Amino acid sequence: MLIDSHAHIYDEELLPYGGADAVINSMAADGLEYIVCVGCDVPTSRTCVELADKNLGIYATVGVHPYDADTVTAGNLDVLRKLAAHGKVVAIGEIGLDFHRPNSDKPTQIAAMERQYDLARDLKLPTVYHIRDGFGEFYEFAKTRDFPEGAVLHCFSGSAEIAEYYVKKGFYISFSGTVTYKNAVNLKRAAQAVPLDRLIVETDSPYLTPDPLRGKINFPKNVALVAQCLAEIKNIPVSEMERITCENTKRVFGIANGR
Ligand SMILES: [Zn+2]
Repeated sequence: MLIDSHAHIYDEELLPYGGADAVINSMAADGLEYIVCVGCDVPTSRTCVELADKNLGIYATVGVHPYDADTVTAGNLDVLRKLAAHGKVVAIGEIGLDFHRPNSDKPTQIAAMERQYDLARDLKLPTVYHIRDGFGEFYEFAKTRDFPEGAVLHCFSGSAEIAEYYVKKGFYISFSGTVTYKNAVNLKRAAQAVPLDRLIVETDSPYLTPDPLRGKINFPKNVALVAQCLAEIKNIPVSEMERITCENTKRVFGIANGR
């Protein structure tokens, strides 16, 4: 069994294939124990909570992606706080920094991340970070902060050294389909550097389809291809990698505690 620790199953790209319902209905057949459905803004965060409320196998995160950093107003933080009161909300995310395709300026993104980090600390929830071309700025943020509830660097895109630094700070490192790409030499090296008890896997469905399906729409079941790639990198059986990443995901998100 596997857990997809990060998917956007409400995304309209999945609608021609039956949307979230089709994904959820095929979870058992696909070998998926849980899917963590990740919010990107207030409306999708609400959708994630609704999906988690109705479906045993779905957990939710609520948060605002750096693309929409300018929507992190006091009013919206209040909405996120209320949504996070649901028992199946396991983290605040995805939050973070994206200077690759910035929709909003650097100070706005940093402030949005800081305010949502504060919310997570207040609610005693872990945080899920999307960091793209922003590891320098993220370091400035993280070095003065603690992450006692744990944190996830989702769709990790940094170096082995960066991964090791955040493991020391208590983070879990989540790999997506990008680690399966042939030219992803540095990413494979980073995966090699992460201790087994801090590795988790995700699809970021419907995006970032792993090899050999690259170019097609990505479904949560493809998380098996990410686990397979990590098993090869770590030189352990796939079944062992599946067991370990499930355990790690449950630990960081408190799923084993019946949250
Ligand atoms: Zn995502």
